[in-house]
Amino acid sequence: MEDHRPQLPKKTQELFERAVQVIPGGIYGHNSPANTIPGIAPYFAERAEGCRYWDVDGREYIDFLSSYGPIVLGHNNKEVNATADEQRKAGDCFNHPSERFVELAEYLVGSIDFADWAIFGKNGSDMVNWAIKIAREYTGRKKVIYIDGAYHGSGNWCPTRGPSGSIAEDHVHSHTFLWNDVHSVHDLVKRHKGQIAAIITTPYHHPGGADSVLPAEGFLQEIENVCKSNGVVFILDDIRAGFRLHHGGSHQVFNFTPDISCYCKAIANGYPLSAAVGRDEFKQAASKVFMTGSYWFSAVPMAAALTCLQILKRDKVVEHLQAMGKRLTHGLENAAAKYGLQVNCSGPPALPYLSFIEETNLMRMQAFCRYCMENGVFFHPHHNWFINAAHQESDIDEAINIADHAFKKVANKVPA
Ligand code: PMP
Repeated sequence: MEDHRPQLPKKTQELFERAVQVIPGGIYGHNSPANTIPGIAPYFAERAEGCRYWDVDGREYIDFLSSYGPIVLGHNNKEVNATADEQRKAGDCFNHPSERFVELAEYLVGSIDFADWAIFGKNGSDMVNWAIKIAREYTGRKKVIYIDGAYHGSGNWCPTRGPSGSIAEDHVHSHTFLWNDVHSVHDLVKRHKGQIAAIITTPYHHPGGADSVLPAEGFLQEIENVCKSNGVVFILDDIRAGFRLHHGGSHQVFNFTPDISCYCKAIANGYPLSAAVGRDEFKQAASKVFMTGSYWFSAVPMAAALTCLQILKRDKVVEHLQAMGKRLTHGLENAAAKYGLQVNCSGPPALPYLSFIEETNLMRMQAFCRYCMENGVFFHPHHNWFINAAHQESDIDEAINIADHAFKKVANKVPA
């Protein structure tokens, strides 16, 4: 039988063949090519600059995924790298934290309105898991309530990505409510009265493989009230959107106040760092919970974060992301309409999620992204995209032009 699968370019093919011999799945997790468009998407990156990157076969892409979010200023940002290099010369991984540790905590406490303290780790999951432990320590309760379909990282308590490797007992105390449905929140709180340690939400709902949904008027404020009146800790998972919508945290955009907020992706422009901040009331519980890691005090990412956060504010990056996001989404909507296609760009323009309206599967979206990837634009077919500060109008217009051809190609038939 003839093999119709697309041919991988030479180096990609060789490297992936080597990878599957020695690495489970070859490339695992959400970075697996099976999670984008196998055979078409780049598998291994070689280098990156600004809003572009090159794979190991030298194929160039305008990057609309920004490394799933960490790249907020653009790849290889000179200013961030300079501070990181300077710190690296002095040292990175010591027996002790460095002065950057305190400076960064001071910076976050100074720039996030409700924050009285800050803690640091490496990944978003570290912070969410830590925040939940703090809530359990503070309340002496077990249950955690989260949005149906939300992703909060790889912690066992939140089994969004399937049950493999976990046991039922891992999540017996996890329960879900429906986004924008106050009744489902009230029902759960009533049913588990006196047992809920935390309600955790994202600032808006960004489920994998589905449109993003902004909070309905008053929804997050109602969660805040429910938490207050029931002694429940309100945790904001701002890992994906944090610092892309507001340099003081996304809760400021949607006008509510959590008790603890978790950040990661945009904090240090790709240097490994996550942070959580909280109110004074939870400081003692936070100090009791033991969470740490071999590299959690490394100075280089903290130095990078200080520079990154200052640039975000100084250069009004939030406004730029919004403007470029709007230019992109309007351009895509108009281009699609030329061929009788209707697309929905949901979520904030800085993190848009594109889908074809009234399509029951992702086939057209896959075909659209396939064409774009083959022509040098990396759009993810079923994850929100991330605009970064290096995207300029000319990059956006170049991408829209390629997308226009892609819409034309996928307009008439749904590909098999
Ligand atoms: N929460 C949200 C909302 C996320 O988007 C992610 C990462 N995609 C996480 C938590 C987990 O972060 P990490 O992958 O860094 O552990």
